[in-house]
Amino acid sequence: MFDIIIVGAGLSGLQSALSAQEAGLTVAVVEARDRLGGKVWSVPLASGRGVVDLGAAWVNDSMQKRVWRYTQMFGLDVVRQRLEGQAVMIAGEGEGGRVEFPFGIMPEFSAAEKRDLERVRDHIQAESMQTGLPSQEQDAVTLDQYVRDLGARPKTRSMVNLWSQVMHGVESSEQSAAFFIDYCRRNHGLLAIRADDRTGGQYLRYHQGTSAIVEGIAGLVGHANIHLSSPVASIQDHGGHVSVITTNGNTFQGKKCILSLPTTLYKDINILPPLPPRAQEVYNSTRLGDYNKAIVCYDRPWWRDQGYNGFFMSFNGPVNLARDTSVDEKRQFSLTCFVNGQFGRDWSRLRSHERRKVVLEQLAKVYKVDRDSEVWRPIEIFDQVWMEEKFSKGALTPITAVGHLTKFVDVYGKPVGNLHFVGTEFATEWKGYMEGALETGERAVREVMNMLGPRSTL
Ligand SMILES: Cc1cc2nc3c(=O)[nH]c(=O)nc-3n(C[C@H](O)[C@H](O)[C@H](O)COP(=O)(O)OP(=O)(O)OC[C@H]3O[C@@H](n4cnc5c(N)ncnc54)[C@H](O)[C@@H]3O)c2cc1C
Repeated sequence: MFDIIIVGAGLSGLQSALSAQEAGLTVAVVEARDRLGGKVWSVPLASGRGVVDLGAAWVNDSMQKRVWRYTQMFGLDVVRQRLEGQAVMIAGEGEGGRVEFPFGIMPEFSAAEKRDLERVRDHIQAESMQTGLPSQEQDAVTLDQYVRDLGARPKTRSMVNLWSQVMHGVESSEQSAAFFIDYCRRNHGLLAIRADDRTGGQYLRYHQGTSAIVEGIAGLVGHANIHLSSPVASIQDHGGHVSVITTNGNTFQGKKCILSLPTTLYKDINILPPLPPRAQEVYNSTRLGDYNKAIVCYDRPWWRDQGYNGFFMSFNGPVNLARDTSVDEKRQFSLTCFVNGQFGRDWSRLRSHERRKVVLEQLAKVYKVDRDSEVWRPIEIFDQVWMEEKFSKGALTPITAVGHLTKFVDVYGKPVGNLHFVGTEFATEWKGYMEGALETGERAVREVMNMLGPRSTL
């Protein structure tokens, strides 16, 4: 009998395991996939030029202390997000819809459009610097309705929709204003989420890829304590102990169980006794976004020759936003294109070669190049669709149904019997990010220890 069985070997599960061991407890980590890391997944390039991150990529040294501690502990090399050069905004069809601008999140629209976008952005930023939960009124309307009610002009609404697509993989009409504002509140505000410099979430990347953090933590936990290729089918809380049963017939017995999957996946597991009705209602209604990456690797960073920094946004899709994700030291030159929300849903239905074709066509259009351009000669392309991953079913983090964030705050993420819940969606800081996943892992073990009271072991 283990002290704690942890379901899932993503960052929240692995951090739970490590924190539990540090508290003197024994653990078994039971993971469905044949690899570690969940939504962290760095894969090597066939060319031998380093890796690309199909999932999480960016970190911040001053704002994400847990991730940064591991960065230093494992001696990882970082590269600063490259901002030098012009960014491009595609806000409409034709030449008139294309704007080049220096790095920042505010493209040069007309004066009136710019004023309107700044007004709504500043309103959301001010809301996101408040504390506590947003109001029930904000939870009762979609984000799109919320900005319409603020009198937003069409371009402003499109920009808010783009934020929704790139932050959560859904349209602004598919999440409540409260969910969006709460997410911003937990993550240092809208501007920090959108920023690619030292003030925000897209500041640094790793030469070794983010999987190096996962591998490092797993090494500390001990690979013998982690059971891969073991999808959990059933969790039975007997009161005195918990049985965790996998689809391949193995049973793990523990005194407590920490569940680290996104809540959207809870319904895939037979939990007995069933979770309380209100917990089931909120968890059964969360959804994950269509959150995809097309990573296009080149022999050379040709876009820099033309004065571009590789950052572009598009209201026309299918790519909503792209960034230069090169690691020059390894001669890994890539553009990472996010194909999210409705565009991502449509794109994921295409065959792989068609997905790649439409992305290259869009790059050619954004950078105004002809058929002779290097745009058409990538050395490798990845088209990662997270909705197709059976043990993720989308990304970035589960989104509560309209009205549910405030209605179910008393049960959401709260322990039930011997079951405890972790995962980036429950993070109080950097929700949706690796840092947030680590935070919940640490917190769950404190929660378990506090419930034990003066007894120091289970
Ligand atoms: C495309 C993309 C880009 C991202 N970019 C960034 C970024 O730049 N910076 C950043 O900080 N974060 C980023 N993230 C988010 C980051 O990856 C996540 O916040 C974090 O990894 C979530 O960790 P987790 O432990 O909460 O969940 P997960 O990683 O989802 O872990 C859950 C684990 O449970 C396992 N599991 C599922 N079902 C079962 C079952 N039945 N039995 C056993 N195991 C099961 C899964 O296989 C998985 O390993 C990105 C994510 C994606 C997908």
